[in-house]
Amino acid sequence: MVLNPTPGASGAPQSTAKAKAPTAKNVIFINGDGMGAAAREAARLHLAGLQGRLTMDRLPVSGQLTTTPDDPKAVVTDSAAAATAWATGEKTYNGAISVDTHGNPLPTLGAQAKAAGKATGLVTTAQVTDASPAAFFANTADRGKQDEIARQYLDVSKPDVILGGGEDWWLPAGTAGAFPDKPAEDTSEGSRGTKGNLIAKAQRSGYRYVTNAKDLDKATGGKVLGLFGNEEMFQQRPEGQGDVYAPAVDLATMTSKALKTLDKNKKGFFLMVEEEGVDEFAHSNNGTRVLQSMQQLEKAVAVARAYQATHPDTLLVVTGDHETGGLAVEENDTADESGTGVSAEDGPFTIHGSDRTFTIDWTTSGHTSVDVPVTAAGPLASRFTGKHANTYVHDVLSQVLAPRR
Ligand SMILES: [Zn+2]
Repeated sequence: MVLNPTPGASGAPQSTAKAKAPTAKNVIFINGDGMGAAAREAARLHLAGLQGRLTMDRLPVSGQLTTTPDDPKAVVTDSAAAATAWATGEKTYNGAISVDTHGNPLPTLGAQAKAAGKATGLVTTAQVTDASPAAFFANTADRGKQDEIARQYLDVSKPDVILGGGEDWWLPAGTAGAFPDKPAEDTSEGSRGTKGNLIAKAQRSGYRYVTNAKDLDKATGGKVLGLFGNEEMFQQRPEGQGDVYAPAVDLATMTSKALKTLDKNKKGFFLMVEEEGVDEFAHSNNGTRVLQSMQQLEKAVAVARAYQATHPDTLLVVTGDHETGGLAVEENDTADESGTGVSAEDGPFTIHGSDRTFTIDWTTSGHTSVDVPVTAAGPLASRFTGKHANTYVHDVLSQVLAPRR
């Protein structure tokens, strides 16, 4: 018989005995938090041009995911319920971190990958304990318990690489750490953990702790905990009132470091990467900052894609947990204004390689329920063709990360 020689081209051959199906050893899963089709389109125009394509859009397989939670009080998902769907295959209520609708903990792909002998890691521009990464590596009935999530990282799921923001949750009140309490740019920030000094605990457990790009660069081998801010790695403030998107370490740099570290494991790895600014700045209807966040995300996707291209046993998936803002890409026409104040249209924004421009408009400061695009490359990528519930991500990823024995 003739076997399909092209990984991911038209579906792997089914379980014919001795068939050399392309198999996945590694998974890189990338979440553009709040990234719907329109955010991808705005970024495509701005970064790649009218006929251009982003790296995330060049991945060979494309599909759509629905995102509805199982919540008696909500129709539209939050990040916690959406990430729980990915990490456990179960629908749950908004705010739940990998617990079911009764609050019972569910097995997570992060912990299962570790149990299968794989190295694991998470990289985000949010707090490392924020809902999306948390659902892959922790279980709590309340996404706000970020200190408990940090404790579970150290005691239970033990990711080898943890890079992002949120030092406040790893230290008790009064212990400022590398980032001062009540900084001028946001005086509400300050250490607030209730689980003791988790950074000292991490160091005792063999993590190297780094808090800036230079030390991250020098950290080689072993486990690494990098926290690069009190909370998110950017300042989410109302438009024009101190909103800043300038992470101290690029998402792409963190992704590259994570891949270099996890790649050493012979049994493979699971890496979760997240860009949080797309969501948080869409909440404040800030088109300029959303585009900056999309640019960081696209660079990180390029790093992951370059790795995947030279490591064909790697499944790369790029999607979003939900759409935020009801973002629309429009012509520059002030007559179709659909809001005032922060909800006013943003722009005009430049189109790469063109003298034309476009406008971003908004319909809400919350999440919306539209489908999110999913694109993928590598073995099992072809499974993402078509339209599925977001729990389907778990169905595919679990084949690599939690194989049935
Ligand atoms: Zn989200």
